[in-house]
Amino acid sequence: MTLHQTLFRKRKRVEDAGLGKKRSKGLYTLSLAPHALYIMKAGFVNIFGKPNAGKSTLLNALLGEKLAIISSKVQTTRHRIKGILTTKEYQIIISDTPGIIEPKYKLHEKMMTAVKEALEDADVAILLHDLTDKDTTESHEIFAALKLKVPVLVVCNKTDKVGKERTETALSFFKQQQYCTGAVAISAIKNQHTDELLKKITDLLPEGQPFFAEDDITDLPVRFFVGEMIREKIYELYEEEIPYHTTVLVQEFKEKSTLVKIQADIIVQRDTQKGIILGEKGQGIKTLGMAARTEIEKFLGRKIFLELFVKVKPKWRDNDTHLKEYGYH
Ligand code: GDP
Ligand code: MG
Repeated sequence: MTLHQTLFRKRKRVEDAGLGKKRSKGLYTLSLAPHALYIMKAGFVNIFGKPNAGKSTLLNALLGEKLAIISSKVQTTRHRIKGILTTKEYQIIISDTPGIIEPKYKLHEKMMTAVKEALEDADVAILLHDLTDKDTTESHEIFAALKLKVPVLVVCNKTDKVGKERTETALSFFKQQQYCTGAVAISAIKNQHTDELLKKITDLLPEGQPFFAEDDITDLPVRFFVGEMIREKIYELYEEEIPYHTTVLVQEFKEKSTLVKIQADIIVQRDTQKGIILGEKGQGIKTLGMAARTEIEKFLGRKIFLELFVKVKPKWRDNDTHLKEYGYH
């Protein structure tokens, strides 16, 4: 069964559980999590590192047999969720940063901003350093330039490939840095010291209810992803200012025999923003609608009918009542 089919089969259950609530920092959680009767640690971890630093290998090592891979198609604007690790004590939702960070872009401001935002949207940022790099300079420059406000774990990877001395030098170097909350050296490929890393991660996670119920790991609410896909297209099609002031609410999601009818509101703060989204003669929203529809159809594997409305709600970001209405809390 594909992820999409699973999502459909269980959609009813997910909807019964609520649309998914948004915590601070733009994180969603299912409102009902049956095993949330005791205090757990729960949160988002985002991994950043140059190509080949070992991000994928680390993900696999962390998730191990408990792996609950979310289809690679599941990518949200804020979180490209790669896996969810749930035990009785914690739930860690692991993502990697959007965009491939080629070294030549390392100090490219816009790229850095995107990476920074993604990382700061998580509870813990993992910055991966490749010990086979000749020294720590390049990693350090990038890590420092990010100026992250969330706890940072610097993970020095590939200990199996280098001498003890290089590992120790790198570790003590990173530990001295202001941006570094903790540092650990691991071999992702040999699964060495990954438990130590897990411990450091959970220590830094906030206490709270799990975002996803244990049995429901593949039940990520379809509406959530549909909303995020629309948001993703807004990011692609409009200047930065617009997406920042925009939220998307999926108001209707109805499966019909031939297609799925989806109606979503795009909420902006000002009339001028509404004008920009709509575009001249409605061309903007038309392009957005088509782009989003293609993406959602690919995701659902079904034809959809997508209806988008733009609504102005001044200060939706600051307004408590609106935030509640939109499922934020
Ligand atoms: P990504 O691009 O950051 O996702 O990196 P990958 O996880 O795909 O790893 C890139 C390469 O480094 C692959 O050939 C991995 O097998 C290798 N690699 C990753 N972690 C380790 C490690 O701990 N030790 C060694 N020797 N190789 C590793
Ligand atoms: Mg990879």
